[in-house]
Amino acid sequence: MELLLKTWLFIFIFSNLRYFFLAGMVFLYFYVFYRQRAIDRKIQARFPTNGDIYREIFYSTLTAALMAAMITALSAPAVRGYTLLYFDRAAFGYAYFWLSVLLLIFIHDAYFYWMHRAVHHPQLFKKVHFVHHQSTNPTPWTSFSFHPLEGILEILIIPLLTFVLPLHPLAIGIFVLFMTIYNVYGHSGYELYPAWFARHPVLRWLNTSVNHNMHHRYFKGNYGLYFRFWDEWMGTTHPHYEQTFAQKARKSQKK
Ligand SMILES: [Zn+2]
Ligand SMILES: [Zn+2]
Repeated sequence: MELLLKTWLFIFIFSNLRYFFLAGMVFLYFYVFYRQRAIDRKIQARFPTNGDIYREIFYSTLTAALMAAMITALSAPAVRGYTLLYFDRAAFGYAYFWLSVLLLIFIHDAYFYWMHRAVHHPQLFKKVHFVHHQSTNPTPWTSFSFHPLEGILEILIIPLLTFVLPLHPLAIGIFVLFMTIYNVYGHSGYELYPAWFARHPVLRWLNTSVNHNMHHRYFKGNYGLYFRFWDEWMGTTHPHYEQTFAQKARKSQKK
């Protein structure tokens, strides 16, 4: 029991360090020191109140506690034996190791799109998803600002996958780092990608900060997480997405 508690505390502290470091860096750069320099890439003109930021940090810390509890539960001796977690990185080859990271990203993306559509159902929205949508003008601190029920739902697919897919803890760690970076970018309130991304045959499928910001502002459309293909396939891309992205994205020097 004591070991489980130590494991939880270690993961909880580590998760918070990751969140505060990444969100804090982006916040200091865009909201404190250089807010005027990048103002043409600010997606919504107004800035959040301190109250918004405190609420976002409170719920994000709560989410970290829940995510740490889920990972700790997997490490419990009674559970670990049923998972396909493996600890020798070469056991399935290095190609599989990196493939598993990609699989986590693509599976989580599909899971997130449909889970997100579900929590927008009127029966679930207020109970589960409203806390996240209180941030109509998101900041880097919004990235994990979820009601506890949503905090569990957001990541539930990952512990479940450990029962069906051989996964190395480091592969999960790399995925979680990617997830955090993409969440902080998507909620940063600024568009960091250049305008030509929208015309690139591959990169145009990446989700953008403008895309997710529009979801927070209008509540409807743009449900995707890392990629835009589910929104495109399901016809849920906001009709003004491309136009807004073109306005806010970084313009290149040459034509
Ligand atoms: Zn939503
Ligand atoms: Zn969001």
